[in-house]
Amino acid sequence: MSFNATTQAANVMDTLYASTDFSSLNWAEQKWVAWYIWWGSPVLATGMLSFLMHEVVYFGRSLPWIIIDAIPYFRKWKLQPNKIPTPQEQWECTKQVLWAHITVELPTIWLFQPLAEAVGMKTWQVPFPTLYTMAWQIFFCMFFEDLFHWAAHRALHTPILYKYIHKVHHKYSAPFGLAAEYAHPAEVMILGMGTLAGALVLCFFTEVHFISFWIWVIIKLFQAIDSHSGYDFPWSLQHIVPFWSGAEHHDFHHMAFTNNYSTSFRWWDRIFGTDDKYLVYRKQVKAAKAKAGSKEEFLKAEQELMNQVLAEGLKAENAVEAQSGKKTKVQ
Ligand SMILES: [Zn+2]
Ligand SMILES: [Zn+2]
Repeated sequence: MSFNATTQAANVMDTLYASTDFSSLNWAEQKWVAWYIWWGSPVLATGMLSFLMHEVVYFGRSLPWIIIDAIPYFRKWKLQPNKIPTPQEQWECTKQVLWAHITVELPTIWLFQPLAEAVGMKTWQVPFPTLYTMAWQIFFCMFFEDLFHWAAHRALHTPILYKYIHKVHHKYSAPFGLAAEYAHPAEVMILGMGTLAGALVLCFFTEVHFISFWIWVIIKLFQAIDSHSGYDFPWSLQHIVPFWSGAEHHDFHHMAFTNNYSTSFRWWDRIFGTDDKYLVYRKQVKAAKAKAGSKEEFLKAEQELMNQVLAEGLKAENAVEAQSGKKTKVQ
């Protein structure tokens, strides 16, 4: 960039920050302003902030799960212990996810700032909202996304949408952290709407700052990756917050091909009865544990139950695909 262009870009931001009292800003707000001035364009600054955060958080959060998968000590907490992803599988998955990020997500960088401005979301502006405001707005986004995801995910299990879109995500009947975003681009867009729409809707009722949305997306990425991790530790969040879904809930969805459609919370699946098979399975595992004379005996009985669920899931998946075939032929 030439000196003139840099000066011009800086001038644009100087105009935007003309009335800002920099001495009143905290450390994070000062860094925020420095970032926007450095890029010289709110569109690029907001877009790159989103893209880089996504890459750093997605792969950064997946890394501990890759390490855990490589250490046999952790197998006792693996939900489907006989299904450990191979390094090749993980590498293939990484390449696919990265390719989708670069080809689908990177170009959308230019769309976010205009969209945010259209609904009145603050982006480059400082100061940030109070912690209380951020907290309730983040919770609202979480609540909204969970309900949206429950409904959209159920729709993705209807024959046509499953066959042409959602089947990609169900490649792994025993998921792992990196597989959280392993999906058809259309699915990424559909389910991504749930992450975005809550914040946009909120903009019509109150002032929303991009920093709240940005933090919410970080939480959402942690939730998505952890729920695909395939591990249920005694210290996992669902053992502390009973309505939290966690890996134990979503792993069953991949194994059984049905039930447990929501993301963060268990309540919608409970209210709408889309966790009936999951509850039966949990009861059966509990009974097997009570009945077994030794740990080995229990693990054997649990594996048999898993095999049964997997076999039923495969049958259900074939039935859904067959249905889509018939419908396609009729059309
Ligand atoms: Zn699904
Ligand atoms: Zn999944």
